[in-house]
Amino acid sequence: LDNKEEFTHTTLATDVMMPRRGDPPLKVVLQENMTVGDLEHLVKTTTYNGFPVITSQDSYRLLGYIYRRDLMVALENARHHSENVLSNSKAYFTLHAPTLSTSGVNEPAPVRLFNVVDLSPITVTDHTPMEIVVEIFTKLGIRQALVTHNGRLLGIITKKDVLRHIARLNKQDPDSIMFN
Ligand code: ATP
Repeated sequence: LDNKEEFTHTTLATDVMMPRRGDPPLKVVLQENMTVGDLEHLVKTTTYNGFPVITSQDSYRLLGYIYRRDLMVALENARHHSENVLSNSKAYFTLHAPTLSTSGVNEPAPVRLFNVVDLSPITVTDHTPMEIVVEIFTKLGIRQALVTHNGRLLGIITKKDVLRHIARLNKQDPDSIMFN
């Protein structure tokens, strides 16, 4: 509480998270309103290890995080399981999803993907000092943390982002590294 001076120079989660100012927005998954085709396209056109799942484009409220691999397997399984799962099938990351009406035999079948979402990803606020973020990564052995402000998703920090941050610190000021 008496080291305000030091605090003003501290790097914060917001300085390390992606996307940076001017970068394209995060690649996210919407809880509703995405199709199987949208998700397959997302997986095909990106290489990220996973995607934050948000409740809506408006709120950007975080529901969870889905690993790329889990999403790919779930989509493949859904296609394999039913021939009514098509590119225009709606994907639901909700506990209760509509089931196919009995009349609509030829309708694209909705796909439920709620059970592949990690509902408790580690989150930090944008103002968390990186010193603490580093400690969280080290102590919990996590691969990514999501960054929020008032519950709104802002960005992501991966283990590699943290390592890059440490390397930068090392070059600038080796004594400032507070962890092992
Ligand atoms: P690697 O690909 O070697 O595992 P990584 O561990 O950083 O790298 P990735 O998930 O591929 O993991 O992330 C690459 C970069 O993209 C990181 O800087 C990360 O912050 C950012 N990133 C991760 N996920 C997303 C996403 N869904 N949308 C936008 N950027 C992301």
